[in-house]
Amino acid sequence: MGDNNKKHKIVIVGGGAAGLELATSLGNKLGKRGPAEVMLLDASSTHIWKPLLHEVAAGTLGETEEVEYLNQAHRNHFRFRLGRMEGLDRKKKEIYVSPTLGDNGEELIPRRTFSYDTLVMSVGSVSNTFNIKGVAEHCMFLDTTLQAFKFQKQLVEAYIRNHASINTADKPLSIAIVGAGATGVELSAQLHEVTDLLAVYGLDESSNVKLTIIEAATQLLPALPSKLATATQQQLVKLGIDLKMGRRVVEVTREGIKTHDGEMIEADLKVWAAGIKAPNWVTQLDGLETNHINQLVVDQTLKTSDDDIFAMGDCAACPWPDHNENVPPRAQAAHQQASTLYKTIINRLNGRAPIKYVYRDYGSLVSLGKYTTVGNLMGNLMGTVSIGGFIARVVYLSLYKMHQVAIHGYFRTAMLTLSNLFRRSAHAKIKMH
Ligand SMILES: Cc1cc2nc3c(=O)[nH]c(=O)nc-3n(C[C@H](O)[C@H](O)[C@H](O)COP(=O)(O)OP(=O)(O)OC[C@H]3O[C@@H](n4cnc5c(N)ncnc54)[C@H](O)[C@@H]3O)c2cc1C
Repeated sequence: MGDNNKKHKIVIVGGGAAGLELATSLGNKLGKRGPAEVMLLDASSTHIWKPLLHEVAAGTLGETEEVEYLNQAHRNHFRFRLGRMEGLDRKKKEIYVSPTLGDNGEELIPRRTFSYDTLVMSVGSVSNTFNIKGVAEHCMFLDTTLQAFKFQKQLVEAYIRNHASINTADKPLSIAIVGAGATGVELSAQLHEVTDLLAVYGLDESSNVKLTIIEAATQLLPALPSKLATATQQQLVKLGIDLKMGRRVVEVTREGIKTHDGEMIEADLKVWAAGIKAPNWVTQLDGLETNHINQLVVDQTLKTSDDDIFAMGDCAACPWPDHNENVPPRAQAAHQQASTLYKTIINRLNGRAPIKYVYRDYGSLVSLGKYTTVGNLMGNLMGTVSIGGFIARVVYLSLYKMHQVAIHGYFRTAMLTLSNLFRRSAHAKIKMH
């Protein structure tokens, strides 16, 4: 597979928050003239940092944040291969990749096999539908960039259709979001902001949109202290977002969402953001152990039961000592794990021991778009500190800047930030096509 078969082959599957950072750092360290060749496989040809997907879906962020894998690979001395992994043979040390199809269904690249010496699984997660009837057929998801762009297109079309309709005054465009975690809450605030902007641009003079969040728990944002959750709840109510708490979804139909108490909440657009799991195919990887949400079980060094296979990010079930639970599926965990595995793989090539990963929780932040950002910061000395407003917004943005610095370096990140500022001043604040 490689030009020099003596080189140690590192294969990373999934170039998201964790995988792209690892491929970049390993490529730079080992790829050029080092003792290893680094290959990244991803099902998509471009990357957008996943926590930005609700902004892509709302139309407030576009292709400008996309990173082309081939360009990133060329600049950072790793190889990129486009394809979707579907299987593994641990004895042969090979992964199997499905044929890549074009838009019309024709085969562009046939089924392939890649061999590895070290394999890193970082394929992220998908929405968990909990097998509830109708969810897969009638809801939209924000698992991939493609889905986020698809949502944005449907949203604009729905606005236009609704605006042109003579019944608009009687029946507003209705959007229901299932799940009041960070994704659902952030998306609802973004969508509210967008309806205001559409009114500004004259597409929808009256912001005639009804937003509803449906949540089984009685408190939104379970990761935040109840004081902050209550403050967020008040802000959402102030924006006119209908919160249906303590309501378990039992079925989704074309018309709407049915809850356990028999209510049918009508919705033109339905978004499912009620929990995650690793993709189903991860449970079929030649005997690698998985947990109840399909995550690969790893020890504290991020190693699976196979000495040559590691897993990180959302698809890994990594213990969080003293907490009796696993490391949560978060971008900050993905970022930290990529840094740990980088050191472990360098150690591995030099015959040294792997490094133990300890999750450092720096807190959780939730952005309500232009309205506010709330969250808590954790510090060993300070304990938990609640923050809001401008400071919270700056800290929230810094998580993305850390990802950008990891994949572009400081100089290019500064240049990209500046060019985006200029671009934003000249373009509409939302995408309207
Ligand atoms: C809308 C939204 C908002 C969020 N906000 C926050 C936040 O504010 N803070 C926070 O900490 N976390 C947030 N998260 C969670 C965060 O995005 C994830 O925890 C993080 O992206 C996990 O990183 P990862 O590398 O494991 O997976 P991902 O970043 O999802 O990357 C997985 C990659 O694997 C690829 N892939 C999948 N299957 C295959 C296959 N079969 N073959 C090849 N490649 C494959 C995908 O194309 C993708 O590039 C948010 C998530 C969403 C959806």
